[in-house]
Amino acid sequence: MSKPRLATIWLDGCSGCHMSLLDMDERLLEITERADLVYGALVDVKEFPENVDVTLVEGAVSSEDDLRKIYEVRHNTRVLVSLGDCAVTSNVPGMRNPYGPRPILERAYLENVTINPGLPGPMVPKLLRMSRPVHAVVNVDVFVPGCPPSADQIYTVLDDLLSGREPVTAGVTHFG
Ligand code: SF4
Repeated sequence: MSKPRLATIWLDGCSGCHMSLLDMDERLLEITERADLVYGALVDVKEFPENVDVTLVEGAVSSEDDLRKIYEVRHNTRVLVSLGDCAVTSNVPGMRNPYGPRPILERAYLENVTINPGLPGPMVPKLLRMSRPVHAVVNVDVFVPGCPPSADQIYTVLDDLLSGREPVTAGVTHFG
């Protein structure tokens, strides 16, 4: 029997949730024995694959690139997990929401810069007007809050999902 296919991705996050994932230490090996890791920071795959059973999503949806990615992830994922407070509430990225993107970009790239000030060009993904939690854009199956969630929390959720159990977290909107 083929193993479940597992992916991780980060959108507008600091990578701290992925650091917590790494903090599972030797339990990572156990997880990768029970599931095929098909996409994420630990595997060299450029395109998000089809038919993924579980995807852990770190970070809020803040840019046009995030938007494209989350639609692609949702389309190809059976159980989508919002991992960490940025994904669950928009958390730190959402702090810019009262101001809109333009004043934030000017502050970061013009006012606080002494060498070569200039706004980002077309190579940098355009910011959306608001940074939004993942469930505001696509359906989310499992929420794992925390900044970051602990390695134990992440392991428990993965263990449940890979065993076919419904994870008990702060909020589960749909499973199956
Ligand atoms: Fe970083 Fe916390 Fe956001 Fe995770 S929830 S990406 S640790 S700021």
